[in-house]
Amino acid sequence: KNSSPAQCEFYQAVEEVLESLEPILENSEKYKKNAIIQRLVEPERQIMFRVPWVDDEGNIQVNKGYRIEFNSALGPYKGGLRFHPSVNASIIKFLGFEQIFKNALTGLPIGGGKGGANFDPKGRSDAEIMRFCQSFMSELYRHIGPTTDVPAGDIGVGAREIGYLFGQYKRLTGRYEGVLTGKSLLWGGSLVRKEATGYGAVYFADYMLQARGDSLQGKRCLVSGAGNVAIYAMEKLYQMGATPVSCSDSRGTVYHESGIDLNLIKCLKEQSRDCLSVYKKTHPDAIYISAIDYPKDGHAVWRFNATAAFPCATQNELTQADANALLSGGCLLVSEGANMPSTKEAIDCFIAAKIAYGPGKAANAGGVATSQLEMAQNASMQSWTFEEVDEKLKQIMKNIFVTANDTATEFGEPGNLLLGANIAGFRRVADAMIEQGVV
Ligand code: NDP
Repeated sequence: KNSSPAQCEFYQAVEEVLESLEPILENSEKYKKNAIIQRLVEPERQIMFRVPWVDDEGNIQVNKGYRIEFNSALGPYKGGLRFHPSVNASIIKFLGFEQIFKNALTGLPIGGGKGGANFDPKGRSDAEIMRFCQSFMSELYRHIGPTTDVPAGDIGVGAREIGYLFGQYKRLTGRYEGVLTGKSLLWGGSLVRKEATGYGAVYFADYMLQARGDSLQGKRCLVSGAGNVAIYAMEKLYQMGATPVSCSDSRGTVYHESGIDLNLIKCLKEQSRDCLSVYKKTHPDAIYISAIDYPKDGHAVWRFNATAAFPCATQNELTQADANALLSGGCLLVSEGANMPSTKEAIDCFIAAKIAYGPGKAANAGGVATSQLEMAQNASMQSWTFEEVDEKLKQIMKNIFVTANDTATEFGEPGNLLLGANIAGFRRVADAMIEQGVV
């Protein structure tokens, strides 16, 4: 911490994991003897690079690009690329660190990595997005490959960006191979990948409720975000008989008592790329709260009453005050579609209240798991049906739930899925590192 005080998100993620690992570290000499913690917190490789590009007015713009290849004990580095102005070394490092445990928890052969740039795609033309992606890939291509490092999408990187990145990779290498996931269905993508993170977070929520003799049927749910994860979480909630009543973007929150109009959100976010304030034009009965009017100690979206909450936007979007508001509003379940959306204090409230709490590295692992299914289809030159992939996704989410739940019980904290997920993910990756020697 002292040698690099600016990495606050990274330290937050490490502290959360290390606290959960205390019960296993206390009783196992082998992890200490093999310096596993010291090795785990240090990325195998961090790449930072200049991304110069020319905007539509002919001005030269320069952004910072990142790729962190954190841990390859279980397979090729796997993790998304984030294009957002807030991106910095700490954010990419925390995301890469989380990815190690998440990927281990899926049981699939994938290591942990993450990347991105402090580029703001908002308001940029298609041609500008393409030139940016081409410049970004002009450096990244030399570090990635289908058996070494396979990036995917994340905030600000969807099918359009993956297309431009892939095109440039192919031009530079002359190779048509599964080097990125989240590709278009026209040329190597997998059915269900687009939906997988949101669907997976809802499947995970349902498994948590089933274990408590309950279900999602009839539940009112708060959702944050209005991007890839939030949209498909809302779609699956409707399919499972629940009602999503909110969503948000970086400028504000929509609350719609009778249920969010999902077709409208898809139009606004997947086609016209509009902001959510437009929602009220079609639905005057909905409430829109602008970000400038949010409570000082948190986020407006968590201040409505509901039985379940699905944070699907970004890190630290749910504070202690938000957690207390959720609990007093009758919330029984939190399933994290986003990465590290709840602050440490908020998580402590959920654990103390013993509600069903699904940490991001378990609840949102459906995205990366389906990316691995895309890699498997690319490598075997096959395409599976929607039903086949969806069934595999459901099974993977179930396995993740059972693994985290059983591990929590094994370590004397039944129902504490944070502890269970961290220990189970850690055990798999740490044991693989030990078997592979000091490398
Ligand atoms: P998108 O870019 O599709 O959507 C992100 C949404 O969150 C948008 O509505 C965006 O609003 C909002 N948002 C982003 N940053 C902020 C911010 N700083 N403050 C408030 N709102 C913000 O990204 P995804 O849906 O793909 O990702 C959402 C979360 O899920 C991230 O934490 C990501 O790491 C995680 N995740 C994603 C996976 C995937 O498969 N895509 C897999 C696993 C985790 P606006 O459009 O106005 O910026």
